[in-house]
Amino acid sequence: MESTIKAPRGTRDVLGDESWKWTHVLNVCRDVAGDFGYSEVLLPIFEHTELFSRGIGDTTDVVEKEMYTFIDKGDRSITLRPELTASMVRSYLEHDMKRAPQPVKLWSAGPMFRYERPQKGRYRQFWQIDFEILGAQSPMADLETIDTSMEIYRRLGLTNLQVLINSVGCPNCRHAYRDALKRFLESGPGLDALCETCQGRFERNPLRILDCKKPACREATEDAPAIWDSLCDECRSHFEDVNRGLSRIGADVKLDKRLVRGLDYYTKTAYEILAGELGAQNAVCGGGRYDNLAEAIGGPHVPGVGFASGIERIVITLEGQGVFLGEKPKTEVYVVTASSDFAIEASALAHELRASKLSAGTDYAGRGMKAQMKQAAASGADFVCIIGEDEAASGTVSVKNMSNGEQRSIPRNEAAAKLVLWREERNR
Ligand code: AMP
Repeated sequence: MESTIKAPRGTRDVLGDESWKWTHVLNVCRDVAGDFGYSEVLLPIFEHTELFSRGIGDTTDVVEKEMYTFIDKGDRSITLRPELTASMVRSYLEHDMKRAPQPVKLWSAGPMFRYERPQKGRYRQFWQIDFEILGAQSPMADLETIDTSMEIYRRLGLTNLQVLINSVGCPNCRHAYRDALKRFLESGPGLDALCETCQGRFERNPLRILDCKKPACREATEDAPAIWDSLCDECRSHFEDVNRGLSRIGADVKLDKRLVRGLDYYTKTAYEILAGELGAQNAVCGGGRYDNLAEAIGGPHVPGVGFASGIERIVITLEGQGVFLGEKPKTEVYVVTASSDFAIEASALAHELRASKLSAGTDYAGRGMKAQMKQAAASGADFVCIIGEDEAASGTVSVKNMSNGEQRSIPRNEAAAKLVLWREERNR
């Protein structure tokens, strides 16, 4: 039975055999957030377009090509959020969180929207978890965000992740670096060696040429100067402290001069975490410092640092690494009746079992007993309660243990307590 209307390209239904993995990831995030002192905020899924065009930057791929923007009935330009950082900073400013003790540590999760070419690990609607520390200048805040992401992955059971780190400097030293890079490209490989997109980037956003994946551009930038040599004293010492901190906590990181990230608001630290299982879209996490974002959206100076990680990519990586995530929640007890005369009794028993926190199911399609037993087996139930003439007359329930086939009769009013006990014994 197929409907003619399908989910739009780049979106997908996360069904019951998968959605519990999302819940698992979110539960781990909630635990880690508690241990690090981040409070959860729930933010709007759409914002004024201006927030992203000013915050993320007009010349970025996200703003230029990937936003879902529309005019609402009140003639406002609205955009479905492509990421969370700009919304986090907007919320911080709007609620005057600068007056609270600093730093303010926030986290959130939910769907993001980008008009991208869909492929494995890349969707038009995808979920991100997002952690931000606002109002902290110290390199130790940068370190703590990386540590937060690594702790989430550690608790989830992910291994073999590669942390790549770079500094993109501040507007001052980036300016000097931009000139040095342009000089190198002009005098060395020449602009003709670059792909068409990068030729366009040469004036507008030359740093992005460094992270172009096209072989010709990679070759042309192979010997390009690294930004490290152009950093001002403050940016250099910040970068060194982050790296010293990372090696002190035993993080395995690699410096990557090509890492410039797609969003304009980054200053100083930029990082990415890669997982081999993801193939071409190999970043499971991206983050960095954005000291000028609050000002870009019309607020005062508020330093900030944080990261976002895609839940679909986390789940793909978990599956690729064969990590045991626990079991999909299932029915524990299935109530079967000898005839539909006992349907109300069956529903009442299921009600009592659920009140004792047992997951219970029953048939209400009027199936015969054999078909109900099949349903019970298909539901994966550990126990089946049977109610028929004899049980009703004697105030009992017959309970079948599905793993060994044993059946016994117990008083009806003790059923919930006994089943709770047997479940505990079974799980021990
Ligand atoms: P970004 O906001 O681009 O730095 O992305 C941060 C993280 O979000 C990435 O490392 C991915 O895990 C995830 N992500 C970004 N874009 C997509 C997408 N189109 N589909 C799925 N996940 C994505």
